[in-house]
Amino acid sequence: MSGPDAGIAWLAGQASARAELVDSLDDPAWLVDAADASVQHANRAAGVWFGTEPAELVGRAADSLLPTLEDVAFWGDVRCGAPGALASDTELPRPGGASAWVHRRVVPIGGLAGGAGGVRGYLVVLRDRSAERRAEGERDQLLAELRATLEATADGILVTGLDDRIHAFNRRFAELWSLPESALAQRDDGAVYRWMSRQTVAPATYEARLQQIMAQALLSAVDTVQLVDGTQLERHMQPQWSQGRPIGRVFSFRVLNPHRRGVPRHQRAVLDETSGLIERGGFVAELDDAVGHARRDGSPLAVLAVEYDRDQLYALDGTAQARSLAEIVEGLRALLPVRARLARLGGMRFGLLLVDEGEAAAQALSRRLVEHARGDGGLLATRALTVSIGIATYPHGGLGAEDLLASAELALERARLDGRSAWRVQGYDGGDDGARLARLHHALHDGGGDALRLRYLPRVDAATGEVQAIEALLRWNDGANGLLPPSQFLPLADKAGLAGALDDWALEHALQQAARWRKAGHTWTVNVNLGSVQCLQPGLARRVAAALQAADWPAARLELDITEAALRHDPVLARAQLQALRALGVRLLLDDFGRGEASLNLLRRFPLDGVKLDRDTVHGLARGTQPDTGLATALAGAARACGLTVYAEGVESEAQRQPLAALGVGGWQGFLRTRPLDAASVPACVATSPAARSLR
Ligand code: C2E
Ligand code: CA
Repeated sequence: MSGPDAGIAWLAGQASARAELVDSLDDPAWLVDAADASVQHANRAAGVWFGTEPAELVGRAADSLLPTLEDVAFWGDVRCGAPGALASDTELPRPGGASAWVHRRVVPIGGLAGGAGGVRGYLVVLRDRSAERRAEGERDQLLAELRATLEATADGILVTGLDDRIHAFNRRFAELWSLPESALAQRDDGAVYRWMSRQTVAPATYEARLQQIMAQALLSAVDTVQLVDGTQLERHMQPQWSQGRPIGRVFSFRVLNPHRRGVPRHQRAVLDETSGLIERGGFVAELDDAVGHARRDGSPLAVLAVEYDRDQLYALDGTAQARSLAEIVEGLRALLPVRARLARLGGMRFGLLLVDEGEAAAQALSRRLVEHARGDGGLLATRALTVSIGIATYPHGGLGAEDLLASAELALERARLDGRSAWRVQGYDGGDDGARLARLHHALHDGGGDALRLRYLPRVDAATGEVQAIEALLRWNDGANGLLPPSQFLPLADKAGLAGALDDWALEHALQQAARWRKAGHTWTVNVNLGSVQCLQPGLARRVAAALQAADWPAARLELDITEAALRHDPVLARAQLQALRALGVRLLLDDFGRGEASLNLLRRFPLDGVKLDRDTVHGLARGTQPDTGLATALAGAARACGLTVYAEGVESEAQRQPLAALGVGGWQGFLRTRPLDAASVPACVATSPAARSLR
């Protein structure tokens, strides 16, 4: 069948069933005759939708009910015998001028023959999506507002799922952690986490802490994170709740030391208007950042202080001076490696910072600068200009930015004494020191050989006189000069960057010696000194753990003496390092307590187990005069109030030992008991030291 006959059959044969189907729908729906695209039946909801009786709709053109372009085109095609289907969201005008969002579906209904040619009619169904659209709109608005709030906050925000997946972060977060574009673009969570860890001064500690955090879905906590660029971040952690259960975590990060960091570098560095270069303050800040990186990565770093002869330049008139300055700056820029940083330290003095470059590169650059200044006609065009250069490298030239720059400027002064263009490297080059350092280097390279030794000083319990611990003291047999105490070589080693290696050597050998004593039946706690360099060297806890493992020595039987200088130099890093050591189970003692500023804050802020009252304090106490006695009492009292054990050093006489009891001192060491001993003499000395002797 085809043509009008088929249409009649479709309408007549199944009309009631189809109408019933349409009437049963809650949404507005109607049937359209495929032959002329007119409405054949409409349900109640359709009547309500159009504000009329359903019967009123019958016979109307389908596209008059939904007069959108899409509908008009669709029904035009139908009339031309091109059947199809339609499903889309569209905005429809409502009576009264309002509009509604609807999802409109037009479904072809097959006739007897089926297929395209068999379409006899269409079912049109409208679903009102206005409320949903409104809700979506409100959600979008809310999200946009949330995002705007997130971006507007001064804190860096990171939102993660319980599975650690990163859900969101704001721009401030990316900025604080200096996240590289690549990590952001890839949305690679692993890369972001790895990057964050690498930005911290103690990645192992940071990661261990993060693991702890991630293992506790309900944890709310605040702590601090120290970044290698000097930024100190306060980290807040909160669970993220949804429908009464935690679904993730929100981390917010805030800069605690904004004067040091937290604003972009170029804003921190004040520009010198004449040369367009950053000034000394900005340079020191950048140097500080670079030192952080070098300390963390072990990468080299060189600072050059460069000065052109002031007298030569000041002899010129103002215009010529300005021109010379411009030429000098231009020349410096042309000669510098791309990543070098140039600053004007004042007058004709400039600072250069070479990252990832050591002394060799600094010397090569100095040579080029000297050649350039004296080049064809020189910088002044008519005569050569004298330039003096001082070089300092990290850590030899200093542990901090100020020290490094001071070393470079000191070297510059020495270079200037030459009276012609020259460069000098910090302090230790040439002379006796060079030769001594070479010998010390050699000794270390040799694994200590016969040149490095340890001497041992027992510390005894103040009440029982029993040996509590044995302190290892470093000695260097410098050939001609004999066995030297640390004061004779540690400062030099410090300058040359060897102090850390010497401490490592002392720790390893002290533990090995302790293990040998244990084999002979003596299990004494070992006490080893930790210099400032070593204390602030990342990976300290790892190295200590390795040394303990190598000697198969329990951490609880190791004490490390910490210097006040290390705690003051970089309190945040020092604290993290000490915490990591504490986590191993090692005991930590503050050495020479009373010699420095001995602030109470130090005792409170650092995870310490005890303090060692310095020799002068102990001797002062014995004199029994004020303010010495009062000071010693106050120091010991403060330490005890902070829950720390107090030990005394340098006890040479009974007169010095006796007043210690009143101070609550737990143990003492000093020549009264014995002078430092070699390893072989320790057991005998301990054996011949009855408790009675110290109780006397
Ligand atoms: P310290 O940690 O305060 O060590 C105690 C120093 O006082 C030792 O000097 C010891 O010989 C000396 N001493 C002990 N009892 C008395 C006494 O009754 N009277 C007097 N006048 N002195 C006494 P030493 O061996 O010359 O060590 C000096 C400093 O060198 C140590 O002071 C320590 O800070 C440092 N040091 C020693 N070994 C190492 C080491 O392996 N690494 C580092 N970084 N420093 C070390
Ligand atoms: Ca000590």
